[in-house]
Amino acid sequence: MEVYTKKSDDNDAQYLLTYINNVLIPSSNEFFILLDDNKVLLHHAFSFNAILAHAIDYMVFIANKMSKVKRKDFIFNFDKQYSVDGCVHINNKFRLLDAVNNSFKHVELNSKRYSDLIETYGDLTFHSLSAKDGKIFFESPSHAFDYCRVVMRPITAIFKCDLKTTNDVDDFINGRVYGCTGYGYFDYDYEPHDAIDRMTDACGSECMDCGEGFDDCDCPNFIYDGKKAEFAENLDPNFDFEDVMSKISGTREFSK
Ligand SMILES: [Zn+2]
Repeated sequence: MEVYTKKSDDNDAQYLLTYINNVLIPSSNEFFILLDDNKVLLHHAFSFNAILAHAIDYMVFIANKMSKVKRKDFIFNFDKQYSVDGCVHINNKFRLLDAVNNSFKHVELNSKRYSDLIETYGDLTFHSLSAKDGKIFFESPSHAFDYCRVVMRPITAIFKCDLKTTNDVDDFINGRVYGCTGYGYFDYDYEPHDAIDRMTDACGSECMDCGEGFDDCDCPNFIYDGKKAEFAENLDPNFDFEDVMSKISGTREFSK
């Protein structure tokens, strides 16, 4: 859904660009070092979550100046607009991020504004996130998962698309350009020369739900909507083990 088509105010766009490039991206770099080392504490997660949520607020501000749109509706469309990839079980990542930020800021969440999320996850409070062994978990009666890996990492990837101009900002707010984690995209020629690459990618593929490799994926311990999760391999649907193996041995024969 495009919210507006005209060019927004250069000063507003510049503010958002400065914010993304000087605040959001540098803090994400620090945050993901902690994440990779499993050293995330609760205040790291809430701080970075607030930084991401503020970017949403500023996009709503710019969009509202261009075309009257309700904040709730705008954020509702974010998840579709940016095609946030990653965990398919949490398909309302932007809304959840916004609700977690508001439950952090306010003692009581506006239950009307977040009624659909409360219906899905139960009550959202400051205690919905908790720290354990350097990871931050979102927990409710029906859900339990690594919030930083499942929600914050795919959302952060959206902002990493080299925005530089007012036009870039307008394209970004309207979902015409955005970054992604790249799951489900496989750029192969399907020729013998890329068989080793295809095998390497298939053996080291990441979990699309948490972004980790098989050895570090915790998903079998997560619960989505009351059901146990599992390693969701980012595997090329055209990957055929026998075929790739025969091409690899063919390449070897050829190079002898
Ligand atoms: Zn996983």
